[in-house]
Amino acid sequence: MITEDHYEEVDLRTEAVGVYTFVESFKGEIAQVSFEILAIARKLADQLNTFVTAIHMGENKKQLEEDSKLLWAYGADKVIIVHDERLDHYYTLPYTRAIYEIIIKLKPEIFLFGATTTGRDLAPRVAARCSVGLSADCTGFAIDDYYDEKNLKLYKKVANFIRPSFAEAKLATIIGNPKLWKYPQMGTVRPSTFTPMPSDLSRKGTTEFFKIDFSPYEFIVKVHESVKETQDIVDFDRAKIIVSGGNGAGREAFKLLKELVNAINANGQHCELGASRSAVEAGWVGRQHQVGQTGRTVRPEYYIAVGISGAIQHFEGIKNSKRIIAINNDPNAPIFTYADVGIVDDYKNIIPILLEKVKEGYIFPDVK
Ligand SMILES: Cc1cc2nc3c(=O)[nH]c(=O)nc-3n(C[C@H](O)[C@H](O)[C@H](O)COP(=O)(O)OP(=O)(O)OC[C@H]3O[C@@H](n4cnc5c(N)ncnc54)[C@H](O)[C@@H]3O)c2cc1C
Repeated sequence: MITEDHYEEVDLRTEAVGVYTFVESFKGEIAQVSFEILAIARKLADQLNTFVTAIHMGENKKQLEEDSKLLWAYGADKVIIVHDERLDHYYTLPYTRAIYEIIIKLKPEIFLFGATTTGRDLAPRVAARCSVGLSADCTGFAIDDYYDEKNLKLYKKVANFIRPSFAEAKLATIIGNPKLWKYPQMGTVRPSTFTPMPSDLSRKGTTEFFKIDFSPYEFIVKVHESVKETQDIVDFDRAKIIVSGGNGAGREAFKLLKELVNAINANGQHCELGASRSAVEAGWVGRQHQVGQTGRTVRPEYYIAVGISGAIQHFEGIKNSKRIIAINNDPNAPIFTYADVGIVDDYKNIIPILLEKVKEGYIFPDVK
């Protein structure tokens, strides 16, 4: 068909339909990122007028069935369960095989994974088996028409995968190469970038089992134990307040910042210590505290940046914070261009006062 604009409309979907997500869990608990992905999947599916399917795998049949209700509540229309008693941990081979089989049989249009350790292991393998591209570590999604101006072709309603590139200075929109285009369009989603939909337990969907006859070879690797690192875990996902230090703070300041973090926690408000890459590289705090492009993406109610200039790579990790409060003695520091509250002063004049107030029982307002 030639459109008014002389573009030939091409649809390579053939039978591909539906937005699919991979549900990640650890010891029976669904990972937060899986709920975040469902929210994106829901949005894309609504724009495409299609459905959301969540793939949930594991060894505990009852638990998997019970989880379906939670997945419906967060946006799934359908849950596909792959159950096998040997799936007591995440295993690369059977997980890859199962997702591949589901894709071949059910032909999704879009497939999303978390850009987590598991997702980064699984998604490229599935993509390679399906001979499709993979857009990694995405921070934005859209459905849009694509005009191939060179060949005068119009591809309607294709998924746009958006991710930072060029050291996070630019945003790239990736659709894949139309000449090689095959469905599903596949991507991984950067954790903590999206907000899950509010849970609606009255939402109902369907659940079905997908049987795979795994071969013993696929369980050639046996995981005996998985442990979550508990030492000095930084729970940025649940923190309501993050106090972060940078190069301008210095080693001594981190002691003060830790004291402030502890005092806020003592008042019953969950607070964590963050840091810029410079502070981590200087050895003042562990790498698990780093916020930013090569660190963690955070979205607290309050992000208090102390002696941080606000480089684009740092901004990338904090831009979803509800309120950014910057303390910096340079009025021209870039962080003041996006901070909600800017205090131009030496942190030594500010943090001790804030610490005293918190110790007297000051509670940060409007923290949900
Ligand atoms: C590929 C790539 C990835 C990167 N990833 C990250 C990342 O994940 N996270 C990250 O943070 N950075 C990252 N960076 C580094 C980033 O570009 C910056 O170099 C870094 O964020 C700077 O850290 P800073 O703000 O602590 O230090 P600086 O830029 O040195 O800023 C220190 C600030 O402290 C202020 N200051 C000094 N003394 C005081 C005082 N007494 N009181 C108050 N303020 C004071 C100064 O005015 C200054 O603005 C990355 C860079 C690249 C190229």
